[in-house]
Parts: sequence; structure tokens; C-alpha cells
Amino acid sequence: MESNHRRCLHCNSLLIGRLDKRFCDDGCRTTFNNQKNAQYTNRMRRINHALRRNRAILHSKIADGKIEVKVSKEVLDAEGFNFKYHTHSLGFPEGKLVYFCYDMGYIPLEGDRYLLVREKDPPSFFLVETAF
Ligand SMILES: [Zn+2]
Repeated sequence: MESNHRRCLHCNSLLIGRLDKRFCDDGCRTTFNNQKNAQYTNRMRRINHALRRNRAILHSKIADGKIEVKVSKEVLDAEGFNFKYHTHSLGFPEGKLVYFCYDMGYIPLEGDRYLLVREKDPPSFFLVETAF
């Protein structure tokens, strides 16, 4: 006598047996878990791609020999810079933040402009490390 109609989370077949059963067999369980993990993997891949692209854009704008470069938001937007992602940030006393994509950073300035900096050549105002 069947007391309920539980179904496999992967193939939707009726499940028979233990009440805590979620899949028909190991094959369904493995496929289900692989598909679930693939969603996270793809999301992380997209974020990593955006971070690497951001880093490459910042790097390309800081020409050889220069330490600090100012650019407009328009210039970064035109290159496909994604302001949603950065790897870490550093704060300084006036409350401003430097956002980094790996070793390349930017500081928002007045008027939609950004000061681009390398982490290895920090301006003197990088003093207090902040939480990510
Ligand atoms: Zn199944």
C-alpha cells in the first residue's frame, strides 16, 4: 500500500521504498547533483571572466611608466568595464574606497571620473584596510 506519491527529483518517476528517498537510483542522484553544480560553476566562470576583463582594461589604461591615470566613466564603459565586480577594496580616511580587480585599482572621483592605480604603487592615502 502506497502512503504517498513522492517523485524522483531528477526524472520525476514515482518513488517506492524509504520515505527519505529523493531519487530512483544513483544515476538520477548523480545527474541531478552534477546539473546543480554546473549552475554554480557557470556563474563563477562568468564572474571570473568579468574580473579578468576589468583587470585587463585597467591595465591597458595605465600606460608604461605612469603610476596614476585619470579616465572618464565613458571610456571604461566603452571598453566593457563591469563595475559590479571587484576582488577587494581599500579605504582611506576621507571615507573613499579604492576598488581592485586583482592588482589593478580605481578610485571614483568627482564628475564620473576615475583615478586608476596599481596596487604595487599605492598612493599615500591607502591607509586602512576594509572588509570586502
Ligand atoms: Zn529518477
